[in-house]
Parts: sequence; C-alpha cells; structure tokens
Amino acid sequence: MSFPRAAATILRVIRFEVLHQSGRARTGRLETTHGAVETPVFMPVGTKAAVKSLLPSQLEVAGVEMILSNTYHLALRPGEELVAKMGGLHRFMAWPRPILTDSGGYQVFSLARLRKVNDEGVEFQSHLDGSLVSLTPERAVEIQRRLGADVIMPLDEPAPWPCDGARVEKAMQRTHAWLTRCKRAWAGDGPQALFGIVQGGMDARLRRASAEAVCAHDLPGYAIGGLSLGEPAELLYEITDVTAALLPVNKPRYLMGVGTPADIARSVALGIDMFDCVLPTRLGRNGWAFTSEGMIKIRNAEWKEDARPVDPNCSCPCCAAFSRAYLRHCFNVDEIVGLAMLSLHNIHYYVGLMRRLRAAIREGTLEDVVRQESQRCPPLTGRREEELAPRE
Ligand SMILES: [Zn+2]
Repeated sequence: MSFPRAAATILRVIRFEVLHQSGRARTGRLETTHGAVETPVFMPVGTKAAVKSLLPSQLEVAGVEMILSNTYHLALRPGEELVAKMGGLHRFMAWPRPILTDSGGYQVFSLARLRKVNDEGVEFQSHLDGSLVSLTPERAVEIQRRLGADVIMPLDEPAPWPCDGARVEKAMQRTHAWLTRCKRAWAGDGPQALFGIVQGGMDARLRRASAEAVCAHDLPGYAIGGLSLGEPAELLYEITDVTAALLPVNKPRYLMGVGTPADIARSVALGIDMFDCVLPTRLGRNGWAFTSEGMIKIRNAEWKEDARPVDPNCSCPCCAAFSRAYLRHCFNVDEIVGLAMLSLHNIHYYVGLMRRLRAAIREGTLEDVVRQESQRCPPLTGRREEELAPRE
C-alpha cells in the first residue's frame, strides 16, 4: 500500500476525461493524486472514517475505487486536528485510494439541533454532547483541507422536502453566496478539487437558475444536491434530468445520496458520473441483499434450510463461502459476520452494477440494464426505505 505524499508534484488538481458516449450517458476517467477512477463510479459511504464492518482490503478486492467520508461527523469526533496529526484521512483510515468528503451541510440541517442560521453560517448543538459548534463556508473548507480528501464539497443549505417555494429559493441563494466564499477559501492552489453544488428543490425553474449561478464559477466538478429526501422516484428522475442537462459536458457530475440500483441506472442514462449512498451497507446490516434475482430478506423463514448462496450468480467472498441458511442463523443470533458479509455482498453488487453500466454505455445497450435493474428492485424512496432500515 503506498500513500503519495508530495501531492503537488504529481497533480495539482483532478483531471477528468470523457471516454465513450451513448445518448446522454458517458464513461470517463477521473484522475486524482490518489489514483484514477473509472466513471460512472459508486462511492461506498464511510461516514466516520470507516465503511461500517468492512476492511479497506475487502473494499479493494470488491473493486471499490473511491469512497465518501463525512465532514460533520469527523469534525465533531475525533476532530480534524487529530486526523491531520495522524497523517490525514487516507492514512488514518488506511484507504490509499481517492476520497470525497461532503461539507457537513446536509448533516447540520438534518442531524443537529440548529441554533442560528444566517448568511454568515450555521450555529448548532452537537448531536453528541450538546456543545455549541459553528460552521461557516470558510471553516468547512478549512476542515476538509486538514482531512485531506481528493474532492471536497462547499457548505450548502439543502431545502427539506416537501418545502414551500420561498424557503427553497432562500436556501438556494444562500448556497450560492456560500459557494463564492468557499471558492475564495479553497483558492484552487492545492491538490484538492472543490465541486459546486446545484440546489433549487423540486422546482425546475430554480434548478436552472442554480445551475447557471454555480457553473459560472468554473469549478473542477459539479454536484446535484437536495434530492433523495423521500420524494417520489419520478420526481427524482425529473429534476435529475433537468439539472444534469445544464451541467458542462467536460466536468464530472455527481448526484449526491442516490440511490437504489434502479435509481443509479436511470441517472447514468441522464449523464451522471458519480454516486454515493448508504443503501448497500445500511440494508446489508439490516438483513437485506440485492441479488440478480431481486432483493431478499435473509431473516425470512423460507431460507431456513437453503444451502444456496445469497446470489447464485455472484462470486463475492460471501457467496463463495456461506449459505442463506448460515447467514440467516447469524442474523438470528446476532453474530456480526452475517451483517458484515451481507454488506460486502451488497458492495460487490453495486460495484458490479457500475461495471455493467460502463460496458453497456460502450456497447450501446444501456436501456437493457436500466430495464433489468428496475425489474429487480422497485424504487425504495420515501417511507419504504425507513421501514426497511431505520436510521441509526
Ligand atoms: Zn455475493
């Protein structure tokens, strides 16, 4: 395992190249100081500097090329100072490949008890001990600079869903003003790439205005934020469709927090290059597996004496070793190897999906994969996801 140190001598910032196009979908290559990534890419979520229950070596064998970690959680515990002292996030969590950190905006607005939100920034009470913490655009960039991820995100204000139009517009305007300050703090003089985040809720008019304002900054990449908040799948696709069409073709496009295999396949067809989502690991820990024959719930009695692997068409370490009967037993008696193995299998499923999507773009058969994934796993938006796997 090697950890490139003198980043500035290797690459000053990421480089992105589109390799194949099919309709609006494309394959590409994203180069960072910690290696190259083939796009469309799925980034497993390592919220607190760990992809829950999985080792970096298991992720590498699965073919994971990039992961996401969480600024809000790491800033609160153990603190970015400690991570920096330990050699930065890659070294700290022993993940030598690319990392993206989010800005913490989403977590501040969804997890913390807000004390004050104004144009200057956000003041909130930590969900851990109630202590008062403030986050400004400049501070969000500074924390992420110390963590040392390859791609960093600006502080933004995602509007909840549903939400009235005036509030969505105000959050969008604030997101734009904060982006200007984040860009100034970032300065673009290091190896980290700052992406812009397009907001604007479920309003196509606001999404257009936001895409225009954000893309005017000529940043290394662009994200679509404020989706996958429980809205119906058709609305998610509609807003992704409108927004993705407005983003520059020569920059990576990242759809934040989305989604199911079907959501990802549909969004790849709309020209999205990067994804992150907690579903494969969260659902794995809750006993659900994505398979080539649809989703299965491992606790179901029907698997009690079933010697088959979770997915007969999968060659992951879980499917190579364990039967459904054994994994069901592990969940019944709280043996953690069960939840670790289902998480690992689901990560293999997602990585395999991205591989199939890239091949389908090259071969012009993307519609087949989109149809197949929609049949295997129905949209899990809104309350249904919460029922499947309550948030910790
Ligand atoms: Zn498997």
